[in-house]
Amino acid sequence: MSCIFCKIIEKEIPSHVVHEEAEWIAIRDVNPQAPVHLLVIPRRHIRGIDAASAPDGAILGALLLGAARIARSLGEESRGYRIVVNTGANGGQTVDHLHVHLLAGRPLSWPPG
Ligand code: 5GP
Ligand code: ZN
Repeated sequence: MSCIFCKIIEKEIPSHVVHEEAEWIAIRDVNPQAPVHLLVIPRRHIRGIDAASAPDGAILGALLLGAARIARSLGEESRGYRIVVNTGANGGQTVDHLHVHLLAGRPLSWPPG
């Protein structure tokens, strides 16, 4: 298995783990784009949102709710934050293991680049 996020989940590659659940983990992004930049990652390898289907609904919901819960635990809910799922080449996806970005701690412009 050459997937970098699978290796992080298996602790073969070190990362700064912020939160762990049975079905997902949250880690700090190694190249942060905001004061808070976390990745919420399912333990099960799913290539991306385009590879997900109806049976994956529960884990997709868990990733979003997990990101929101972490944002709240960091006190970012009043200032706001952004949850992002990059998909494919045009979407800027660079790791082919589904993950949710949680970005917070500064104003985030729109539209994105
Ligand atoms: P994507 O571009 O696929 O939406 O997001 C992948 C993210 O994973 C990028 O923001 C990148 O900085 C992050 N990343 C890539 N390799 C590693 C790593 O080895 N450790 C951590 N913590 N983050 C990584
Ligand atoms: Zn993987």
